Amino acid sequence: MGKIVFWGIIRTGILLPMIWITSGYIETKYWWTLVTLSVYGVIIHPAILQYKIFREENLPVVEDTLCSSCKHFDVTAVLCMKYDEHPTENYLPCGGSDWEPGDGEKRRI
Ligand code: SF4
Repeated sequence: MGKIVFWGIIRTGILLPMIWITSGYIETKYWWTLVTLSVYGVIIHPAILQYKIFREENLPVVEDTLCSSCKHFDVTAVLCMKYDEHPTENYLPCGGSDWEPGDGEKRRI
């Protein structure tokens, strides 16, 4: 998830000066259209795609591993908070020995 935010900030940092530079060359009514389209196309749409990929890649970990029911698991980052590592389908940072029951609620990313 941090990667999505990081690249969103990078894209915003690149896009803003470009938008500012073009403001002197394009009529205002077209400029706002350009701003809207470029913000969506350069910042929002790639972030949505990255999030979908992130979700698809991590759904098996969130739904089918021991970590998914552990109180140390942060579902939004798909991270074991106790070991500060990312569990996978084939790797649990604690090997199952430090599992503790969570709140019992179904978690979603
Ligand atoms: S303590 Fe173990 S079971 Fe719990 S989230 Fe971390 S690796 Fe998974």
